[in-house]
Amino acid sequence: MSGSAITPWVVGNWKMNPMQSDSQQLIQSLKQYLQAAPISAQQCRIAVAPTAIALLPVQQQLKDAAVDVLTVAQDLSRVAGTGAYTGEVSAELLKDSGIEHVLIGHSERRELFGDNVQIITEKVKNALKADLSIIYCVGESLEQRESGQAEQVVLQQICDLANVVSNAQWTKVIVAYEPIWAIGTGKTASPADAQAMHANIRSGLKQLTPHGETMAILYGGSVKAENAEALAACPDINGALVGGAALNAESFYQIAQAFAQVKK
Ligand code: PEP
Repeated sequence: MSGSAITPWVVGNWKMNPMQSDSQQLIQSLKQYLQAAPISAQQCRIAVAPTAIALLPVQQQLKDAAVDVLTVAQDLSRVAGTGAYTGEVSAELLKDSGIEHVLIGHSERRELFGDNVQIITEKVKNALKADLSIIYCVGESLEQRESGQAEQVVLQQICDLANVVSNAQWTKVIVAYEPIWAIGTGKTASPADAQAMHANIRSGLKQLTPHGETMAILYGGSVKAENAEALAACPDINGALVGGAALNAESFYQIAQAFAQVKK
């Protein structure tokens, strides 16, 4: 199967936004776009990742959407199960609430909240053990890119993942390549640079698992309606992890539409 035959995913990472009433409006508006011109799950999987406190209201509000829109957690605890861990939300609690997907290793978690390799791999293990699917984020800093280390850094992050994923669990993994210098900065990797990194990631994944051939590899970093088509045209870019533009229903819908149309 070629990279472009993979069903694309467009996932909105809302980060620590918005307030509940704005979140309701955002979902309402997204539902209206999807009602007027549905994008089927075969054309493009659409998902939103609200804050922990909005996960269940958003999930509830999406129940009558014209197409299936998934609700994704932005993070989970490094501790499994239940217990005396104030402030934490475990993989099992997410699963018990009907949440099936979680982001892990976002650069903001790595840079601002101390999520190092050990913590990230504990989170990966917990998520997969609880039968959640993961969207595992990788990406290099500007310094690493400028010093020619981008590929090595990203492939090391893939190896960190491989150390804790069993053969059978690879089907529960999606990778998101997010160059740190492109997140929230308005700077996007050129489609050619992004494609080159995605091809490297795919070739690394193929060496680790047969599922590497068909795994969705999303691009993230200032994706917007204006650049979505060019990114979608790259064979190994199988979707987008969208931050800022996901807070506007029209832009987010247009990004999903671009992937659905270009990849069909
Ligand atoms: C992100 O946070 O995952 C992201 C890609 O953000 P933005 O689209 O705003 O760059």
